[in-house]
Amino acid sequence: MSRIVYVNGEYLPEEQATVSIFDRGFLFADAVYEVTSVLGGKLLDFDGHARRLARSLSELGMTPPPEMEDLLTIHRELVARNDIVDGLIYLQVSRGSAGDRDFHFPPADTRPTVVLFTQSKPGLADSPTAKVGISVISVEDIRWGRRDIKTVQLLYPSMAKMMAEKAGADDAWLVEDGKVTEGSSNNTYIVKDGKIITRELSKDILHGITRAAVLRFAEEAQMVVEERAFTIDEAKAADEAFFTSASAFVMPVVKVDGETVGTGKPGPVAVRLREIYLEESRKTAI
Ligand code: PMP
Repeated sequence: MSRIVYVNGEYLPEEQATVSIFDRGFLFADAVYEVTSVLGGKLLDFDGHARRLARSLSELGMTPPPEMEDLLTIHRELVARNDIVDGLIYLQVSRGSAGDRDFHFPPADTRPTVVLFTQSKPGLADSPTAKVGISVISVEDIRWGRRDIKTVQLLYPSMAKMMAEKAGADDAWLVEDGKVTEGSSNNTYIVKDGKIITRELSKDILHGITRAAVLRFAEEAQMVVEERAFTIDEAKAADEAFFTSASAFVMPVVKVDGETVGTGKPGPVAVRLREIYLEESRKTAI
């Protein structure tokens, strides 16, 4: 059975879903996206993702698509039609197609292109990787200056992942002016002397939906959080390191540029935050 995807108002088998070659997303990476996790057939942090989508569209002056009102229904419909128990829903909105290639934006009444599809990931929350932790390398952050907008300009993050793979590591942490900005597709943290340290929100990083939830849970659990940038040397000398994202939740990092962090095993703070995040998010999933 082929996957059912959503394109501009229609649910179609993936083979029949098409987008114009003049689409601004294709030609100019003029598009924004969201990835929402599904656990037990329910959506995690849906409202947070919907709010961030609205903000990304607004920051780029993109006309919100007619689907904005029905996003939850469309997500749920795709979960049901594809029998997703655990997995991800990818959503992308582009500025649409002007029927030609032109740097100028098309007229404001051009219909944005809206695409959603599911990715089935049975056992998503029971990742064996989370039990052992991952390794990262540091690479220079050469992305554009509006990383708070969730655009589909993912070429450099993709290259950073390939650099990590080539170096025998699992992921890359991006460094600008000597400080870690974020991971290739996640927000980054270290733990030192019981304190959780993570970069403060700005235009330099994506405002992670998982980050917001995890920091709230950490504070509720009386953990100390310091929002400031940190260096790769601090990460190497930390007691623990981890990252957060909607698809990986809380993921322990046990090696940075070949050096072992802490004991070399997932640390207690990361392990606990992962447990709390999964438990609380399942409770509020819709
Ligand atoms: N930073 C970047 C660059 C990302 O791509 C992601 C994942 N989309 C995140 C942070 C984490 O954000 P979220 O928790 O909302 O998935």
